[in-house]
Amino acid sequence: MNVVPLKFRPAGGERLIFCDDAGGFFRSNEAFLERYVEDRMTPDDRSFLKTNGHAFDKPGDLAYNAFSYRWARRLHAPADLDYVILVPTLRCNLACAYCQVSRVNENAPGHDWDAATLQAVLVWLDSLSSKTIKIEFQGGEPLLRLDVLRDVRAFARQRFDQPKFVVCTNLQAVSEAAWEFLSASDTFVSTSLDPTSELHERYRTSRHAATEQFLQNLARATKDFPDRISALPTFDPNALPEPHDVIDAYSSFGFRSIYLRPVNHQGFARKRFRTQDIGGVWNGYVRRFVMALVDYNATSEHPMEEFYFSHCLRRVVLGGHDGHVDLRNPNIVGRSYVVVDHDGSFYPTDEARMVTRLGQIDLRMGDVRTGMDRTIVDALNAESLNLFDPDCVHCPYQAFCGVDLIDDLSRYGRIDLPRHLTDFCQRHLALFDLVFELQYSDDPKVRRSIALWSGLVDIDPELTKVHQ
Ligand code: SF4
Repeated sequence: MNVVPLKFRPAGGERLIFCDDAGGFFRSNEAFLERYVEDRMTPDDRSFLKTNGHAFDKPGDLAYNAFSYRWARRLHAPADLDYVILVPTLRCNLACAYCQVSRVNENAPGHDWDAATLQAVLVWLDSLSSKTIKIEFQGGEPLLRLDVLRDVRAFARQRFDQPKFVVCTNLQAVSEAAWEFLSASDTFVSTSLDPTSELHERYRTSRHAATEQFLQNLARATKDFPDRISALPTFDPNALPEPHDVIDAYSSFGFRSIYLRPVNHQGFARKRFRTQDIGGVWNGYVRRFVMALVDYNATSEHPMEEFYFSHCLRRVVLGGHDGHVDLRNPNIVGRSYVVVDHDGSFYPTDEARMVTRLGQIDLRMGDVRTGMDRTIVDALNAESLNLFDPDCVHCPYQAFCGVDLIDDLSRYGRIDLPRHLTDFCQRHLALFDLVFELQYSDDPKVRRSIALWSGLVDIDPELTKVHQ
């Protein structure tokens, strides 16, 4: 019998988490580790490893092929280009303290698509080979160019099968025409709601009346199309709110998912906020927040999740969860999704246009008029997988983890920093540690939340009541 390579990591006391390269895992102890390393495993050890897919008799047998299949399923193959982020304007009616895009004032000229750019975008969309498409409108504030949004949506509806649209709006000033645009069943809203309304006012709206206006608009949106709106908070690591205040704020609008994001290091906000070395503080806060959600879910009829923790959990237990563009392996950029900026330039990601604008490295990929040039981005893509990274090859979390080269470039100006020194690695190591700690918890409250978040049961309080 051949045992596939196992990597391990302490999990409290004498316990260790063992993982293989296909994402199979189990918890054991140091005694097993010694038997494994010294090749004196017991018949029970061997039987366990064989039964659970960590061993095979010979290459090509069922166990071998099943392992190969699971290993391949953990890798992300980019599909046709079917996700497009459009930036029809950089103008915005707010000036948020930690804006991660390079917005300009609402009345500034020269930062919008002109008619020729719009036409070129439509011609380019028409040239795509994909039959389906998701189009995300960003800015600036995209509702300032409702005319462009209408033209693009009308074109995409007749060109693609069941297109989906996302409007990333601050919901600050929404005209009746804009409400009508947002009311369509194929159109989704993504907005910002900072951890609490006080912080929202301090960092975004500045004035109480403006905050009230935003909250009214948010209430209307969550009432009119509750299934088509999501909200994201941004956290200042130097002023982290109590988790239950954030949970209360989000649940009061009916949201069931909160995505904890610190101020983005990739934008201009880095000049004003400390974002470079917040790993320890942030990881501690995420843990505190997840445990607060566990307590909340124990009694709530409307359980909630922290999006990114749940995403990491699902990548561990199920594989094939590659929907988040910041956590894939390989993480090939500029292929299945691209950004078209306010001047018609292509960028591989939204963050890449920030990295370019800050003068760190030019990640522009041509433009809609002259065509796409992936020369620079494809040079980056050659490094976009963790399979050969000298740190990751020794890490038990390698099969669940990924790569984010744009983040590395933004933080360090290079992509060859030893992986374990990067913010990306330190954040994910802490997250996966927490995922495994909670997965093996005997606490019924934890087990209920893990069952909900893992996607193994629907979020149905009746099915997952805590039995004490
Ligand atoms: S980046 Fe860090 S946590 Fe992720 S696989 Fe590599 S070593 Fe492990």
